[in-house]
Amino acid sequence: MTSTLTDTPDLHLLGREALLHEPAGGDPEKLTLVRAQGSLVWDDRGNEYLDCTAQAWSNNLGAGDERVVEAAIAQTRELTHARPTFHTPALLELAALMVSIAPGDLNRVGFTLHGSMAVEMALKLALRNRPDAEHVAVLHDGYHGRSIATMAASWPHPGNAFARLQPRFLRLPRPDLFRPRLGRTAEEDTELTLAIVRDILEKGAEGSVAALIYEPIQGNGGHNEFSASWHRGIRELCDEFGMLLIIDEVQTGFGRTGRMWASEHYGLDPDILVFGKGVGGGFPLAGVLAKHEHAKFLAGDDQLTFGQFPVSIAAGLATVKAIIEDDLPARAAEHGAYATERLREMQTRHPLIGDVRSPGLMVSIDLVRDRATKEPAPAEAHEVFLRAQRKGVIFGESRYANLGSLIKIKPPLDISRDQLSHALDVLDDVLGDVERDYGTGVR
Ligand code: PMP
Repeated sequence: MTSTLTDTPDLHLLGREALLHEPAGGDPEKLTLVRAQGSLVWDDRGNEYLDCTAQAWSNNLGAGDERVVEAAIAQTRELTHARPTFHTPALLELAALMVSIAPGDLNRVGFTLHGSMAVEMALKLALRNRPDAEHVAVLHDGYHGRSIATMAASWPHPGNAFARLQPRFLRLPRPDLFRPRLGRTAEEDTELTLAIVRDILEKGAEGSVAALIYEPIQGNGGHNEFSASWHRGIRELCDEFGMLLIIDEVQTGFGRTGRMWASEHYGLDPDILVFGKGVGGGFPLAGVLAKHEHAKFLAGDDQLTFGQFPVSIAAGLATVKAIIEDDLPARAAEHGAYATERLREMQTRHPLIGDVRSPGLMVSIDLVRDRATKEPAPAEAHEVFLRAQRKGVIFGESRYANLGSLIKIKPPLDISRDQLSHALDVLDDVLGDVERDYGTGVR
């Protein structure tokens, strides 16, 4: 049937119908992207957009950077596939570079192609190192991927059809700095939650716990930051209960938060760190850093045919060098300070803005229907997203875990100040329009 079609748009319509991941009939607002450069993307109708999502917060280095493109083309000409029983020069160079920039004393590294698979690698490493332990612990509202196991490690959103085949994780509560429980302060909520976590580890877990995995700032779960006292308390509990601390920096790594690693903000000392997204410069790449004493894979434990895909590795090597050369963590810190200052000023005029979150360019606003109750405003947030996209700026949304009240501003870290300022101007306008249409602040 498709062979009779000569014209591309018809094929596109058929493709929309055919795609497994599309809702029936397709999503009319979903763009077909044809080109990207820096922080800009273009769709198949010639429309230009400022991309404040960095494509799932992955293009920390803007799209199409010549250094990355050249490295990928050169590697493609030389060798595209080597199974994991072989090394390639770029693999060895990237391994050395990664351990040189790793936080703490993480001095072993392994690569794979997806954040989810890197989390699985970290979980396997923890289980190898704790042969007698029964559990792995996770935090409420965490996100670690969409493979069967990492989905189970994430917040189990309603309607999860896969639970039958998923491993069970020990779920631990987390403090909430914006909506602390029962009218407590954020600090009191943190102390209380640490005490509950200790109780669960002492009395609630049958068998010992191999590891706790969490994100230093929860990304998909709602940009939830933790206080330094939480991170310190968790490290102490890990030591006391013999748990390895796995920090998932898939979203926060490579300068996103204004430091190379979010772990640096809080003096975190992970036993295992998971990275992904920003490392590949738009190519699929992820992996794990571990302390020497925990590097104990046996042959066959973790070998995937394309796990060390040479083109991704070469692109990753060029990307990490460029992130260092351009000092993108510092750029993120400067842009982030500018964006949060502007958003705080907007908060004084826009009742929808309940909270402004950072650090670095991990920026978001949490929209509320009412400042006093902090009732989330997901419908308004979706409207802000749609109207901004129609005006040529793509912001991030947070549909995960029904927490859709966030608007995320997480462009490439090398966005220009003019572009960032323009994105914030559009947000300012759109917030005003949505507040007027939804009657926010006048009830
Ligand atoms: N961990 C975190 C913290 C993430 O944000 C994500 C992706 N959003 C993943 C793991 C999974 O990465 P991937 O989608 O590349 O499998």
